[in-house]
Amino acid sequence: MSMTKEEFKENCEISFDEEHWQKINYNTSCFERNFNKGKIKYRNMELEKERAYNLSNKSLLNMEKLLVDFETHFNLNGGKVLWARDAADARTLIFDLLMREQVNTVARSHSTVLDEIELNDFFSKKNIKLYETHVGRFTLQNQGLRSYHPLLPALNLSKEEMNTLLNGAYKLKLDSTPKQMVNFVRYKVDENLKEVGACITGANFLLSDEGGVVLTENEGNILKSTTKAKIHIAVAGIAKVIPSMDDLSVLMPLLSSHATGQSMSALNSITFGPAKNGRNPQQMYVILLNNDRSELLSHERQRQMMSCIHCGACVSVCPIYKNIGGYAYDTSYVGPMGSVMTPLMRGLKEYEYLTSACAMCGKCTEVCPVRIPLDDLIIENRHLVATEKVGDAKIEAMLKLMVWHCKSRKKMDSPLFIKKMELKRFLNQNTWGDRREVPEFAPKSFSQWWKEHYE
Ligand code: SF4
Repeated sequence: MSMTKEEFKENCEISFDEEHWQKINYNTSCFERNFNKGKIKYRNMELEKERAYNLSNKSLLNMEKLLVDFETHFNLNGGKVLWARDAADARTLIFDLLMREQVNTVARSHSTVLDEIELNDFFSKKNIKLYETHVGRFTLQNQGLRSYHPLLPALNLSKEEMNTLLNGAYKLKLDSTPKQMVNFVRYKVDENLKEVGACITGANFLLSDEGGVVLTENEGNILKSTTKAKIHIAVAGIAKVIPSMDDLSVLMPLLSSHATGQSMSALNSITFGPAKNGRNPQQMYVILLNNDRSELLSHERQRQMMSCIHCGACVSVCPIYKNIGGYAYDTSYVGPMGSVMTPLMRGLKEYEYLTSACAMCGKCTEVCPVRIPLDDLIIENRHLVATEKVGDAKIEAMLKLMVWHCKSRKKMDSPLFIKKMELKRFLNQNTWGDRREVPEFAPKSFSQWWKEHYE
């Protein structure tokens, strides 16, 4: 079920708490610092972005062929590609695989596509034991909390809060250092991995020419789980496919520099299917997920969003996200990427309000490593909302009134008290919010002032 506009507003109110705000701003400012450090390692970052942009466009244009080639090569490598029309389809495919192999304990990595198919809720309904392997997610899971940021799932927690959560769940001593906490979680993850029969991951890229699945990480949890479990299931959106391994030389450094400021993530692996000689994983599956990506593809401009490499940079710099945080949204794609993708993939009418969750500052477009013009695409979505008439009728009426008013010089020059009265009427639609002050009119309009001084 989708979140209504009113629920979204309520969530924003809850998130608008000084302490919460300070934590997000502190943590996202660390990202900006790291990103700025990472940026100077490039001699010409704009040129690399241009290359990535061209490469992504080429992949989008040839997606059908690239996907079929990927399937052929991955199957030849001994793996199996499965196609999922939507989230329910993907869940069913995973469930059937697990049941066939009699697996009821599973590990997962941090991945937005797994959140997109609502894997955790599904597993808890089906009584399948799920272990999180990412340090942030592991900590959140004990509290039943979901991921807060596409890259840094526990971005909203201070180190003291993480310590408190781990103390509550495992009695880890309260004055633990971050290193002690991370070591403790890693130890627990290692213990859990002894039990699992399958691991489920996302995929950063799919290599069409050789049937490879690229996974990048910093913690080593993905490598550990994929080599410990008998079955590896990778779920990937259809847009993850790229022509060949050569393209990684452009995309991987851009991904890590924009995600964490590193030249390269600490651990990068390419898996070409099941392992040989009795090692794990003995079986490997790739689930290619559509889930309305073809709907996104049908929009001439918004389809550029499919080039997203999920670095999370646009989210970390977004002033809206920094104020309302990740829990205000009910989708796995938050911030500017969510404002473009969600209304088109999950329903324009249901999610039209997300197109307003943007201050048009353009910072997201500025940082995007594959040059997705996010702010322009949000405007495109607003245009769609207006042409398809799925927006808030009150706001529509208010805007019409405003246009009518602004078109008339006489009205623009009307006495101050009339303008104030009209503004009050405009803003009396619960659109302005309690946190902003109603702007004051200048005592005279510009044209009146001009006449007095120059005519
Ligand atoms: S839209 Fe661009 S900046 Fe945002 S996550 Fe995707 S690639 Fe990164």
